[in-house]
Amino acid sequence: MNVQASQPSEQTVAPGAPAGGLLAGKKALVMGVADKHSIAWGIAQAMHAQGAALAFTYQEEPKGRIERNVRELVATLGSPGDFLLLPCDVTDDSAIESLFRHVAGRWKGLDALAHCIAFADRDDLNRPFSQISREGYKLAMEISAYSLNAVARAAAPLMAEQGGGSIFTLTYNAVEKAVPGYSAMAAAKAALEVGARYLAAELGPSKIRVNTISAGPVRTLSASAVKGISALRRWTEETAPLHENITIEDVGNTAVYLASDLSRMVTGNTIFVDSGAHVLAAQVGAIEHRG
Ligand code: NAD
Repeated sequence: MNVQASQPSEQTVAPGAPAGGLLAGKKALVMGVADKHSIAWGIAQAMHAQGAALAFTYQEEPKGRIERNVRELVATLGSPGDFLLLPCDVTDDSAIESLFRHVAGRWKGLDALAHCIAFADRDDLNRPFSQISREGYKLAMEISAYSLNAVARAAAPLMAEQGGGSIFTLTYNAVEKAVPGYSAMAAAKAALEVGARYLAAELGPSKIRVNTISAGPVRTLSASAVKGISALRRWTEETAPLHENITIEDVGNTAVYLASDLSRMVTGNTIFVDSGAHVLAAQVGAIEHRG
């Protein structure tokens, strides 16, 4: 296979990672680890195992739990000093600016950005779609969709100056078909997917790829706010073509592909990591077969 490698970077092999991995020489920023169940953590582990140097962001909150979790998790990968850890609330433009200033200072470039961030107010998530509050709708849009624009804008110069890069985000397929209970987040994911396609068109000339991974239901902190996550997981097991729920490792493996040069001509796509659930038009498989 003839895979064109991108420009070599400052730090070529991640500490503790095997030399010659698919991401050897790549510098990746992972946004959205909250705890060990986070999809972002699955992505970070998979990218680390393939040799990427990693930086992490965490959301600051009064008790500092997320920061503590991220520090503990990162320590399992290697010496904490080898990883950049920075706070970033994506509603704060100055925090985004400061984040990318630090990344540029450390690496002078960036190969991959994993955007694994979403939020909707729990009260709004539990309301019927027609009852979502104006503020709740705006909040979900800002944090879960607009934030991709904001971070892509800041990451693009760092990627462009080294000849390109890969940005990817996480979506859920409550976009093409209604999934009752996904509420304001469904609208935000639709906007996120549109945003990814527009960014792919805009940043393509700089060889920056923008894709989305559409994951099946996984038990995470955010997912616990979505009513019916257990039913969705049961439905996946019983009905989806592969009859099995996905794991954060499954998403991590797809992230490795998207961050690597193997996907160098892939942009503007949504890759479904959902046990194949998205291909089902009718849900007859969910009905128990009798007789
Ligand atoms: P998670 O709770 O582990 O991660 C969500 C992250 O978003 C957290 O780290 C949180 O700190 C961060 N975040 C929220 N508001 C923020 C803000 N203002 N600034 C910065 N960070 C903020 O849950 P997860 O399920 O791993 O979610 C990661 C992504 O995957 C989300 O986009 C989610 O919608 C998507 N996704 C999840 C599932 C699922 O079933 N869990 C399925 C498909 C897609």
